[in-house]
Order: sequence, then structure tokens, then C-alpha cells
Amino acid sequence: MDERILITNIQRFSLHDGPGIRTTVFCKGCALRCPWCANPENLEPGPEDYVKDGVPGTYGRYISCEELVREVMKDELFYRQRGGGEGLDALPGGVTWSGGESLLQADKLELAFRALKKAGVHQCVETSLFVPAEKLELAIKYIDLFYVDIKILDGERCRTVLHGELEQYLENVRTLFAAGKLAVLRVPVIGGFTDSEANRQAAVDLIKKYPPMKVELIKEHNLGQSKYISLGRTPLDLHTVTDESLERYKEAIVMNTGVPAEVCRI
Ligand code: SF4
Repeated sequence: MDERILITNIQRFSLHDGPGIRTTVFCKGCALRCPWCANPENLEPGPEDYVKDGVPGTYGRYISCEELVREVMKDELFYRQRGGGEGLDALPGGVTWSGGESLLQADKLELAFRALKKAGVHQCVETSLFVPAEKLELAIKYIDLFYVDIKILDGERCRTVLHGELEQYLENVRTLFAAGKLAVLRVPVIGGFTDSEANRQAAVDLIKKYPPMKVELIKEHNLGQSKYISLGRTPLDLHTVTDESLERYKEAIVMNTGVPAEVCRI
């Protein structure tokens, strides 16, 4: 088995992938197929050729854990800075594992998780939590803060639309909160997929049961279109969710759960 990690990008000085200044590692491979995914180049668990503006290239490259740690530690100086506020703002910068679904490669990443923890580097992961339980349990030992999506909370629609098993997700949410890990829950509010009354109520119930530090409501745009085209795929034309509907979603969360919520436009 190849012990190297498959990534598409290491993004430095990121301000939107967790507290402070972060270096974000985009891992390639994801079990889900969210129709609104903005990173289609990170879904297949192997390198993929593309053509962009007539220029060919490959999405994905293998990197050893040692080299990955060396790369992210180049930004170590920035990780020490803290926002000086409260809650999330009090946390330092660091490394964010993103994707795709980085936790699918958790066993290969363990050396890097461990090395960064030993070096005192704050680590976040952005995850769907549609991963085998043992991969989450491994990550829980090292990761400081989890950004977890709330997507479609109806089992049948979850299976047919996302290609994921809701029970696996819910079990992992239980495990994460039982371990007392810090978490932010993120809701991509997508017209026709996650914005129904029933899904909103189910999201509110989940947040009430597992109160996170904060909820972020993500207003998706038609991002990643050029990447879909470069892979020869047709991007989905998403229905725009109105600002009023986002505000209603936010109010429902704050009023019913007491958890702070914010609308983020990406
Ligand atoms: S979980 Fe994330 S990376 Fe995977 S398909 Fe959905 S949006 Fe894309």
C-alpha cells in the first residue's frame, strides 16, 4: 500500500478555514457526491487529468508525511498569532485539513497529525463526517477543532442525493460530541436540497442535541464551475437562496438552540 498522502493543494495564509492565519491542506478523495460541491477536483481518490483553457494538467499528487510536515511548518511563525478575542477568536492559527474528505486518509496522515501536535500546532479539520468510525476516532486524538457539515438529514434523500448513509454520520456526530471536542457546525443552504422546512427543523433539532461553539450558514454560489468544465463535467446551476431565507434559517437556530449563528457567503 502506498503510504503517501494524495493532495491537490497546500494553501497558505488562509483566513477562512478556521481561527487565525492557517495553512490549508486539500486532500483528494471523498465518498460523497454533493451536487453543490465546489471542489470537484478533490472527489476521486486518485490523480485526474484535466484540460483548462487548452492547457492540460493533473489534479492530485502524492506527498510523504515527512514532506507534508516540512511544508506546513514553513508557516509556523503565523500559527502563533492569536486574534485576542473570545471563543473561536481566542484560538491560534494553525493547519486545517480539508478536501475532499481528509479523514478518509486519517491513517496515512497520523504521522503528520502527531508531529504537528507535538510541535504545538493547532489543527482543524473540515469534514462531512461520512467516514468510517475508526478514522474519526484516530483524528479525535490529535485534532483540536472540527468543522462539520449539516447537509441532508433525511436518510433516503441522503442516500440518493449525496451517496451517504445518514446513520454513519449521526453515529460520528455522537462520538465527536461524547469526546468533548470543540466543533463548529456548518450548514450549506442550498435551494432544493437543504433549505426545506423539514431539513431546517431537523438541523435545529441536531444543533439543540449537540450544541457547537457556533453555527455557520453557508450561502453557496456557483463556485468551482471552471473546475467541472476542466474535468469534462457539467456543473449544476444552483438555485439561489434569498438573503431573507438565510436570515430565517439563522433566527430559527438562534431562537431554538441559543447557539450563535452567522451567515457566511463564500
Ligand atoms: S463532502 Fe465536501 S468535498 Fe465531498 S462532495 Fe460534499 S461538498 Fe464536495
